[in-house]
Amino acid sequence: MDLIINKSQDIGKKKHFEFVYNPPTDLLSFCCHVPTDQAKITGSYTLNDDDSISLYLIVNLPMRWFCDRCGDSFEKNYYFEYTDDILPEPSEDHYNYEDNILSLDHIVDEQIVLNIPNRVLCQPNCAGICPICGNNRNYNHCDCEQKQNNPKNPFAEIKDKLN
Ligand SMILES: [Zn+2]
Ligand SMILES: [Zn+2]
Repeated sequence: MDLIINKSQDIGKKKHFEFVYNPPTDLLSFCCHVPTDQAKITGSYTLNDDDSISLYLIVNLPMRWFCDRCGDSFEKNYYFEYTDDILPEPSEDHYNYEDNILSLDHIVDEQIVLNIPNRVLCQPNCAGICPICGNNRNYNHCDCEQKQNNPKNPFAEIKDKLN
């Protein structure tokens, strides 16, 4: 997905775009979350007087997520917005475009990776997995922790009798 920049005609005009995009299959292999469909990319750009381009991107990618607390999977769109000034020459802090072509693939791929949340929960108050019996506490109650806090130590009883 390349945007063709027409320097003589585009200055100051806000242009909109919309397309579907398949991120590389191994893009999110560093984490366990998986895209389940094509990303929908929408946004706009404006060519400025100094030949920089003000870019606004919205990425909407259907995903299957895995909860960091209970491990359950759930589907939800991965959505984020991104704005940047794209420069006509390479720079350390900004993306750039070359030969009147602004290629969005690299930007979208990199931002998909950078915007992945560090922590994903199936629900804000996910109760997680019981560390003792492995039960998913969102579905079933277990009283393991209660038992551990009030242990009935069989040796304590014997000790009582011996005294
Ligand atoms: Zn969960
Ligand atoms: Zn338990």
